[in-house]
Amino acid sequence: MKNKFWEIYRKINKLPQSVRIETCSLCQLNCRDCYMRKNDPNVIIGNGYLKFEDYKNFIKKNAYIKNIELSFAGEIFLNPDLYKIIKYSYEKNINLTALNGVNFNNVSDEILDALVKYQFKGITFSIDAVTNETYQIYRRNGNLNKVIENIKKLNYYKEKYNSIYPILQIQYIIFRHNISEIKDVKEFAEKLKIENIFFKEPWNGEIKFSDLDKKTLFEIQFIHRQYKQYDILNNNIPLCCQPFIQPQINWNGELLGCCCSTHKNLNVNVFKSGLRRALNSKKMKYMRKVIQGKATSEDIIACHRCSFYHQMQAANKYLNIKKIKFI
Ligand code: SF4
Ligand code: SF4
Repeated sequence: MKNKFWEIYRKINKLPQSVRIETCSLCQLNCRDCYMRKNDPNVIIGNGYLKFEDYKNFIKKNAYIKNIELSFAGEIFLNPDLYKIIKYSYEKNINLTALNGVNFNNVSDEILDALVKYQFKGITFSIDAVTNETYQIYRRNGNLNKVIENIKKLNYYKEKYNSIYPILQIQYIIFRHNISEIKDVKEFAEKLKIENIFFKEPWNGEIKFSDLDKKTLFEIQFIHRQYKQYDILNNNIPLCCQPFIQPQINWNGELLGCCCSTHKNLNVNVFKSGLRRALNSKKMKYMRKVIQGKATSEDIIACHRCSFYHQMQAANKYLNIKKIKFI
């Protein structure tokens, strides 16, 4: 009865059943191109973590939420309230994921156990090498051997509980320094029982997929096809759809809109105003109009300087919300 009420409430108010909440913007690594570690005064994420009490209140007030993506601009495993967040979400039938990425260098046994026991649905490991020497070139302060040990321990718990969750995948950012290790990543993943691998071009533009030779490209596509089998890993929501179906919220409750919105906030706090009111706030509505091509962008929202928006502008092709599923 309660669930039915919330589903009707959600549909009447056109509220999403999925959100993204930054769980911890702090990180022990210092990756070479990480925008969070450059002390850029224009980045508005700040340093902090999601408090359990805020999370609990948010869930109580928005009981129609079914899926929450926790990873964003830091390392979720540094959040001291993470155990409580995972356990509480399980009790409330909420699917948790960290598909944006985690470095997985420091994870306690208690959390590794909880990830399986409380059916955390999916994790993306940011691993762009198969040797520690190469890994540390980009993932400064990180140690691939520690990551491997933690993945092995996680697999131990998966066997112990006879669970397929969390489903595991690797995000491999391609750089000039790690191209030579692409050929070994499939075997690396297989040994660690990792189900999927996907590759990304670096933000700094030092290399593009088109720069790679055909053999390497084949290798990439082969790996990707071979492991792309679970729905949860296929659930790639295009970034510009996020303001509608999976809005990004910062660790302190500030509404950001999407995960690219790191330099402008929308001047509304979800934990204070409530999600429904926040999603109907002035700047959020404006952001949604801009990405649908119904308003001209001004430099008050992140879209104005976002490459995705510039691509839409160049092609004169904007988001068509009628094509978005489960709104
Ligand atoms: S692991 Fe992620 S959040 Fe941490 S420094 Fe690297 S890119 Fe940034
Ligand atoms: S244009 Fe960029 S900032 Fe705007 S919604 Fe799309 S991804 Fe987000």
